[in-house]
Amino acid sequence: MQEADAAADAWFAFVVEARSGRARAGRLTTPHGSVETPAFMPVGTAGVVKAVTRRDLADVGAQIILANTYHLMLRPGDDLVAELGGLHGFSGWPGPFLTDSGGYQVFSLAKLRTLTEEGVGFRSHLDGTRYLLTPERSMAVQANLGADIAMAFDECPPWPAPHEAVDAATARTTRWAHRSLAAHARKDQWLFGIVQGGVHLDLRERSARELIELRFPGHGIGGLSVGEPKPDMLRVLDHLDTILPEEKPRYLMGVGTPQDLLEGVARGIDMFDCVLPTRNARNGQLFTRSGKLSIRNARYRSDPLPPDPECACFTCRTTSRAYLRHLHQSGEITAATLMTIHNLTHYLDSLRHIRETIVLGRFEEYRAAVTQRLAAEGQQP
Ligand SMILES: [Zn+2]
Repeated sequence: MQEADAAADAWFAFVVEARSGRARAGRLTTPHGSVETPAFMPVGTAGVVKAVTRRDLADVGAQIILANTYHLMLRPGDDLVAELGGLHGFSGWPGPFLTDSGGYQVFSLAKLRTLTEEGVGFRSHLDGTRYLLTPERSMAVQANLGADIAMAFDECPPWPAPHEAVDAATARTTRWAHRSLAAHARKDQWLFGIVQGGVHLDLRERSARELIELRFPGHGIGGLSVGEPKPDMLRVLDHLDTILPEEKPRYLMGVGTPQDLLEGVARGIDMFDCVLPTRNARNGQLFTRSGKLSIRNARYRSDPLPPDPECACFTCRTTSRAYLRHLHQSGEITAATLMTIHNLTHYLDSLRHIRETIVLGRFEEYRAAVTQRLAAEGQQP
């Protein structure tokens, strides 16, 4: 046991290098390279970030990619991925990967779910095939996928839900965390626990304390940004910031807008993932330093400016709003590629800049300036 732990310690580390207010600048070391935190993980649902290539991901400065266990176990199947060298060998992405547990997608996508203490039975949304996803099965699938970081299998209650229902889901998440830990065997893979508890601070606190006892090397915060009012999410993050261990990475799952990232960092969050930059890019919505821009808008028909004049990404160096609008309106797939490159650059540059302000001890100043600018421009954060 001690030997196995020593082996894992040789591959993984998390160090907080600087602090500014509650914000932290850290470094996460994995078998496939290190990640500067706070970090944003582009979402590679099916083992690929939609519309872009590995070269684009390297160009925009992505350091870690998220892949979805649910999608990959259904298609092409985790056995095939394992046979071809896991996610790294299969996709060719040489950097770190994180896989989710599959739980969130089962609860949001799959049909005819049956939830028992054993796990979740469901039919594939692709072809109706029956599956049973349990903590043990999720660990086996994630072992096959071979990401650097795996997530414990959890129950995600919907929002809104009565306290009683969230209480039961939170208790089950702890029981499933025990089973996930017992079934997790790969020493070259870190396993994070997931804090649940909805918007209820008492349940969040209990969930966090129960997981801390299990000594996971990092903690995910699940069940947020599922429709609850933003102040509720921030209240939960404020509370968890006082409970979660300072020396371990904290990952806010599935969040969010650029402003959410800023507010998360302000509450000690180190890692984020979200489909917003990539999904919105495919729908023609760009994130810029002065807020959101919808390329479909007729005002950009003959606009020679790049999407964001202050951005140095490939798209902004080479492409006008007018041309992007034309590509998007014509249904050209290149539009999705160019806009994804810009949006990912915007997210990753923002976090790089945020990291610099933390190192310089000026994060709160920066946060106030950004919030003020967005408010002045009448942009919804
Ligand atoms: Zn750009």
